[in-house]
Amino acid sequence: MAGVVLVTGGSGYIAGFTIRQLIEQGWTVRATIRNLRREAEVRDWLKVDNDRLSLFAADLTSDAGWAEAMAGCSHVVHMASPIPAHHVKDENELIVPARDGALRALRFARDAGVTRLVMTSSVAAIFYGRTADKDSFTEADWTDIAGGDVSAYAKSKTIAERAARDWIAAEGGSLEFVTVNPGLVLGPLLGTDFSPSLEAVKRVLEGAYPALPDLGFNLVDVRDVADLHIRALTAPDMSGERFMAVAPHGFLRLAEIAAILCERLPDHAGKVPTRRMPNWAMRIVSLFDPVIRQMIGELGKTRHAEPTHAIEKLGWRPRPAADSVVDTAKSLIAMGVSKV
Ligand code: NAP
Repeated sequence: MAGVVLVTGGSGYIAGFTIRQLIEQGWTVRATIRNLRREAEVRDWLKVDNDRLSLFAADLTSDAGWAEAMAGCSHVVHMASPIPAHHVKDENELIVPARDGALRALRFARDAGVTRLVMTSSVAAIFYGRTADKDSFTEADWTDIAGGDVSAYAKSKTIAERAARDWIAAEGGSLEFVTVNPGLVLGPLLGTDFSPSLEAVKRVLEGAYPALPDLGFNLVDVRDVADLHIRALTAPDMSGERFMAVAPHGFLRLAEIAAILCERLPDHAGKVPTRRMPNWAMRIVSLFDPVIRQMIGELGKTRHAEPTHAIEKLGWRPRPAADSVVDTAKSLIAMGVSKV
């Protein structure tokens, strides 16, 4: 099945792989970017058949351009949402565009007669804000934004997904709504401008930490995340579905990522730290560094999540997390981003 699909946030990392796969599978793709001045740059790194891709200007914070971008589309993948590369002073810098942008995408999709919208949410809308020591999560779990360990980004993804589901229930009509909730997305780069999610591997590879903090992440490959979005776009009976996009047994600590790099890329692992950083040392650093402060609540935490639902319902076959770690590092080196 292939039709006309709009991908929002067409300049993004996951969007790039999704657009490529959609075009390979015969879809006609439209994509929004904030400003058409970037059209040539985006086309240059996507390297797809330009006749199958049209670009439109639309921002999450304004109605301008959305109706034109949606006109004639059967499906929408709503991926645009702010990802902070640095600590944000005001959490509304993330929350407002994420929430209002999702509602805007839904409203314009319904009005254009779109049949299904797949929204990219996150495990950040699932894992956080709990006082109990819960270490295992499914699609039934939700982040409690009133909890203590909830970052501005996690709040933005939770509030946006909740608002979208509430809107669908009240005003969605026949528009079907599905979310894909990825873990930390890794994989090859499309260009030298890459998602902040690759920083964990980049920093370990480059020896940016003198020692390894006791932090872990549920990893997933960008190529598999793109594939899951397309499966969610086309499979029958999807209305209201929620799929975690994580690799099987893909919760890896930084020390495990370091060990994978040392074992599988020994010629490039000279800067990879091997010592563990004690949690007390991280706590001292966090007093001076707001980025580290955001991670303090995660020290020593385990958050198991498995892709069982997507495997069973959609036949999704994500690759092992270790392969994505290696492919990320190889790509960072090949693109000249990491000199190791
Ligand atoms: P990315 O490369 O930073 O892409 C984010 C996209 O959102 C960019 O195209 C960006 O446009 C766009 N955007 C941000 N603010 C916007 C605004 N006000 N108006 C219009 N567009 C705006 O990151 P990504 O990793 O591909 O993320 C894509 C989606 O996946 C996001 O919804 C993110 O929350 C979700 N996600 C990502 C991860 C991960 O580990 N990467 C994990 C879970 C969920 P510009 O290029 O103009 O900034």
